[in-house]
Amino acid sequence: MELKITCIPGDGIGPEIVAEAKKVLNRVAEVYGHKMLFTDILMGGASIDVHGVPLTDEAIATAKAADAVLMGSIGGDTTTSPWYKLPPNLRPEAGLLAIRKALNLFANLRPAVLYDELAGACPLKEEISAAGFDMMIMRELTGGLYFGERKTVEENGVRKAIDTLTYDENEIRRIAIKGFDIAMKRRKKVTSVDKANVLDSSRLWRKVVEEVAENYPEVTLEHMLVDNCAMQLVKDPAQFDVILTENMFGDILSDEASMVTGSIGMLASASLNDSKFGLYEPSHGSAPDIAGKDIANPIATVLSASMMLRYSFDLDKEADAIDAAVKQVLKDGYRTGDIMPSGSDNMGCEKVGCSRMGDLLAERIQ
Ligand code: NAD
Repeated sequence: MELKITCIPGDGIGPEIVAEAKKVLNRVAEVYGHKMLFTDILMGGASIDVHGVPLTDEAIATAKAADAVLMGSIGGDTTTSPWYKLPPNLRPEAGLLAIRKALNLFANLRPAVLYDELAGACPLKEEISAAGFDMMIMRELTGGLYFGERKTVEENGVRKAIDTLTYDENEIRRIAIKGFDIAMKRRKKVTSVDKANVLDSSRLWRKVVEEVAENYPEVTLEHMLVDNCAMQLVKDPAQFDVILTENMFGDILSDEASMVTGSIGMLASASLNDSKFGLYEPSHGSAPDIAGKDIANPIATVLSASMMLRYSFDLDKEADAIDAAVKQVLKDGYRTGDIMPSGSDNMGCEKVGCSRMGDLLAERIQ
């Protein structure tokens, strides 16, 4: 199969971690007989330095012409970088918002996985973390409270702020379909999270999710109120497979879920549109404090590449091979600095740099 992939190395550690993800993808291509056609585009600070804007129309056109986009990260040190002296619409992050809009990415996926070998980094009690967890938070990205009408008025000398939370059934249906499709590739359980005891938008959410569920008889659907979900994530995270939720609830719950893994350098993410197209990137930022030192952890980006193979190309076997290589490299005791155990003997682990970690992962692709 020929895979047309646009890469956005971006800023900070972005170019280093994307290089390692490409290394692993090239190894997948070699082992499984595919052809990877990579085209790089500039975005964020790297684009500002060359073109004066964080994303050009040409770069958007290149991204649109591909089957999927793999990104590192964009942005610099927000207090010292000259990029942050520019007006907001010309700063690095404006590029990210522009590409998400141009590609119509409405579904955000953030897996939260606890690896046995990294259980020590999990802030939960041992009796909870011992069960492990592997969940996918599926968040609606373009509707709800963050995109509703808002205004601040003054009535009788009292200031009043109004935000509106709107969802129509089409917006709910398309994300629900994505959620159920993804559950079909996993353990076939969807927990739909809402606040249906209070909000009309949640009551419509629940109805439409139930309608969509009728087309997926193999998938178990449960509903959970958002406040309960926030508790259950720290009480019994092993119960979750796919958590399907609206924009603001997903924003909060996905951060909570990623924090319970305890390892920022391991967290992948994806944003999808209503075709197979997606933008895949690590959940972390561009880590300007460690850029150019060959010490960044490339695993979140490599796992994002695995998601790309699974969700944009339906190459599940190849994605499984990448996921297995990550597990194996951890089992073999290799760690980048951010996931290195503390203690005098380092628990028998060997510290490696970004590029060596990429080599070790690529070697384990079978
Ligand atoms: P950050 O995620 O870049 O860094 C937070 C801490 O985690 C730092 O100590 C960093 O060294 C460490 N870290 C992050 N990724 C790591 C990795 N792969 N390996 C090892 N250590 C890692 O967050 P920040 O410092 O708040 O943001 C830095 C820049 O990144 C800012 O300009 C911010 O706007 C940008 N940012 C971009 C994205 C994106 O491109 N989607 C997301 C978040 C932040």
